[in-house]
Amino acid sequence: MLEESECESDFLLTEEFEKRYVLIHEHYFSRNADYWPIFKEPGMAHIIKSRFDGLQSEDRLADYPNGSQLYSRIRQECTIPQKSTVPNPEEMDEMLLFTGALCKNWENPASVENVVTMPCDPAIYAAMIGTLSNPNLAYKEYCGMGEDMEKYVIRQMATLAGYNPSQATGIFTSGGTFCNLYGYLMGIRKSMPEARSYGMGYTHDYRFINSKGGHYSNTTNLSLLGVNLKNKTIRIKVNKNNKIDIKDFELQLESCFRLKSVVTCIMLTMGTTDTFGVDEVKPVYEIRERLCEQYGIKVLPHIHADAAIGWSMLFFLHYNFATNPLGINVVTLHGLERNVELFRQIRYADSFTVDFHKWGYVPTTSSLVMFKNKDDLKFLENDPENFSYFEDDIQGQTHLQSTIECSRGGIGLFGAYGALKYLGVEGYQAILAHSLQNANYFRHRLHEFPGVKVLAYQNQGPSVGFRIYNPAVVEDAEAEFEFEYDFNEGEEYHQRLQRNSLWHRDIFLRRGKVGLYTNWVDYISHTAHDEKDRHCYIPGEKAVFMNPKTTFEDIDKYLACLIV
Ligand SMILES: *Cc1c(COP(=O)(O)O)cnc(C)c1O
Repeated sequence: MLEESECESDFLLTEEFEKRYVLIHEHYFSRNADYWPIFKEPGMAHIIKSRFDGLQSEDRLADYPNGSQLYSRIRQECTIPQKSTVPNPEEMDEMLLFTGALCKNWENPASVENVVTMPCDPAIYAAMIGTLSNPNLAYKEYCGMGEDMEKYVIRQMATLAGYNPSQATGIFTSGGTFCNLYGYLMGIRKSMPEARSYGMGYTHDYRFINSKGGHYSNTTNLSLLGVNLKNKTIRIKVNKNNKIDIKDFELQLESCFRLKSVVTCIMLTMGTTDTFGVDEVKPVYEIRERLCEQYGIKVLPHIHADAAIGWSMLFFLHYNFATNPLGINVVTLHGLERNVELFRQIRYADSFTVDFHKWGYVPTTSSLVMFKNKDDLKFLENDPENFSYFEDDIQGQTHLQSTIECSRGGIGLFGAYGALKYLGVEGYQAILAHSLQNANYFRHRLHEFPGVKVLAYQNQGPSVGFRIYNPAVVEDAEAEFEFEYDFNEGEEYHQRLQRNSLWHRDIFLRRGKVGLYTNWVDYISHTAHDEKDRHCYIPGEKAVFMNPKTTFEDIDKYLACLIV
C-alpha cells in the first residue's frame, strides 16, 4: 500500500548514510572513554556498563547485584546518616550507583515512549563542566563568563533560526513549559502593562489565542497566570494534520478586535508532541499585520511559537536537497524538504521555545526561550525597587530584572553548547535524519497492515500515532477512521468508537513490551467539529523515534508481534 510515486527502496537506508551514521554513533553516542575520558571514572564506568549490560535483561532490578536489598532501602530509609562518609575511590556509594544504573534506560533501542532521549556524549561532558563551575545565570557577579556563553549560544540559535543575531536575545530556563510561560507573559506585559501591578482585566477585556492541538503546558500556564480558561482563551480548531485552521484563526482574531478585546498572545505550535503538526507562522503574521492596521490596534498581539520539539528541524534550513550530501533516503528527504518550508517561517514569530533535552540530545533540562527583538525584554522588567540588593551598574548588563526566576542554572546551557559544538550542523542532520528514517519506515510498514490507520501519515516528525482496528470486523481502516472522524451525537457512533478503542487497547495490553516500548495515549487524534462545535478525542498508540540506537530490526521485531 504505497502512496502514489513511492517505492519500497525509498524507505531503506542508503549505504552512504549507514557508513556516515556508524561514525556519528561511535563518536557521540557510545560512551566511549577513548573519546570522552570522563567515562573512565569508576562510578561512571560502572553505571555505563550496567546500563548497557541491562539491555538484554528482562528484569534489571533482579539482575542488579544486591538489587532487592538496595531497593528496599531506597524505599524505606528516612534518616540522614549521622556520621560522615570518608570518600573511598575503590568503593563509591552503592545507592548512588544503583540509582544511576536503574534510572530509565534510554540507551535501550526499544525506548520510544515519548519525546525523551539519551543525551549525547559531548553534552554530558559539557554539562559536567557546567556542574563543576556552577555558574548562577541570575546575575553577572554569580556566573562570570557563564553569561557570555549564554549570549554566545543565543547568537548561534538566532542565526540558525533566521533571526538577526545582534537584534535577538534569549533566556535559558527550566523546561519548555517555562519558555511558553515567557511567551504568554510577554504578551500580557506588552499589551496590558498595567497588569504588572493590577492583574489582568483591570482596564482591558482580553483574550489569549492558542491551538486545540497545543501541548498541555498551554493550559497549565494560563491557569497559573490566573486566566479564565473558559471565557478568555480561544483555542483554534486544528485540521486532520493537527495544524491550526488559518480561516478559523482569522475569524476569531477579527471578532476579538471587533469587540475591542485586547489579544495578548497568539501561541502557535511548531511540532505537536504526538503527531508533529506544524502551524504556519507566516499567514498568522500577515493576518495579524493586516487586521491590526484595519482596526487601528497599536500593540500587536505577541506571536510565540512552541517549537519545543520542532526546533531541531532548523538544522536543515540550509541543507542542499539537490545534492543530498548525507545520502538521506528519498521519502525522508522529501519530508524534510516539506518541514523546511514550514520552519523557515519561524522568523515571523516574536519568540519561540527550544527544548535541547528533547530532540537536541542534551541532558534534562536544557531549555531556551528565544526573542526576535531584545528590546522586548524591557516589557518584562519588574520594579527596580525589587532588586535593591544587587549593585545598579551590574544589573544593567543582565536579564535579572526580566526573568521569572531568580537563580538560573547553567548546566543546561553548557550541555547545549557542547552538543552544538561537537555535533555541529552536519552531526545534527545525521542523527535527525536517522530518527525520521526510522519513523518513516515504521509508518510505511504499519500502513501495510490491514486494520491499521496511521495518523497524520504525511507529517514528518519523530512521533507516529496509530489506531489498530479488528480486521475481523473492520474491512477498511481508512474508511473506519473517516467514520470516527465525522463526529455525531448518535448512540451507534459512540458505541462503535468505543468498541474500536477497547479492541486496540486490549491488543496493546496483551502484546506487552516487545521490540519497541510504545505508549497508549488517550488523545492521539480528534474528531471533526459538528455544527454545534461538539467533537471528541480519539485514543491510540504511539512510538517516538528519537533514539539514536533504534534500528529497523527493532521495528521489525515489534511489528512481528503487532496483533496477537
Ligand atoms: C515537551 C513539550 C512542552 C513542554 O516542555 P517541557 O520541557 O517538558 O516543560 C511544550 N510543548 C511541546 C510541543 C512539547 O513537546
